Amino acid sequence: MIIEIPDVWDDVAASHRKYLRSTIPKSLQKYRKHLVMGPQSRVVHDVRRYLRKHLRAIIEGDASKCIELAEGFDQLVGATCPERKSILRFLEKAFDYKKFRDKKAGWGAYALCDKARYSVCPYCHLLPTKTVTRNDEEAGYRPQLDHVLSQVKYPFLALSLGNIVPVCGQCNGPQMKFMKDFLNPVHLHPLKDAAVVRFSLKPAGKNSWTESLWAMREKMHCYEIDIDTAGDSAASQSASTFQLRTRYDDYLHDAYRIAKFAAGGRSAFSESVLATTNLHITLEDELGFPHTGDSYKHVPQGRMRRDVYFSQLMRSFGASPTAP
Ligand SMILES: [Zn+2]
Repeated sequence: MIIEIPDVWDDVAASHRKYLRSTIPKSLQKYRKHLVMGPQSRVVHDVRRYLRKHLRAIIEGDASKCIELAEGFDQLVGATCPERKSILRFLEKAFDYKKFRDKKAGWGAYALCDKARYSVCPYCHLLPTKTVTRNDEEAGYRPQLDHVLSQVKYPFLALSLGNIVPVCGQCNGPQMKFMKDFLNPVHLHPLKDAAVVRFSLKPAGKNSWTESLWAMREKMHCYEIDIDTAGDSAASQSASTFQLRTRYDDYLHDAYRIAKFAAGGRSAFSESVLATTNLHITLEDELGFPHTGDSYKHVPQGRMRRDVYFSQLMRSFGASPTAP
């Protein structure tokens, strides 16, 4: 995970909860006959009680609460529980994610994604997650929605906003996130954790820093992008699951260009270009977004560009070459 997006659904949370309040209780009632009751079905009784007790929290959908609810459910319905299959089937029907996912008119996944505050995948921060609604000329498209906690294992959290993240198809694909959930091993959660990953350039391979590498005087292939997970095991899991080191290799050119820009000193560079071409190139032009605030979150690779720029500024103007 490269960026945290705890406020991604803030503009739609009220509408979504209203939809859940108007559909889930009726749905639970409608499908309750699918659960077999009997003297041997103590667990079914407990699941019903669990749902009654926590329905409000499921609808509220706070990300941390969803994790607590999943852990509570695991204690209630173990992997070897004989009724597990029928309970999961019942929950899948009652919390009908497929219906919500495929709905193109009214309240559904398209309407939800259309109001998301971010349009770049938080897991890789490389690919856009924009939504285009259907119109007369185009069919429209939306990002995939990842269930941080698997909807197969926890179908009652399939519609909770704290468990749904708009992501790119590559991150959500079978080689990466797919059906995994982030409880075990624990990964960074874009809706509740801080993004601790930091980017910078480092000497390629096993090479060490030299004065000229430090000053960005060497060619691009002498460098590689370093992704520092700050000793955080969840961040390290995320980097591994989403294959970030390999995927960011393809963006070395951008990192190298921005580090050189930082090493050259912004004003000197801008002034020389201005003098010869009458073009005023700003830091915002180079980065693709203003360097202050959260603007970097809204541009693919924004985090990497920002981190590389500031880490090189520190190297060139704020720290000695012996202290990388
Ligand atoms: Zn992605």
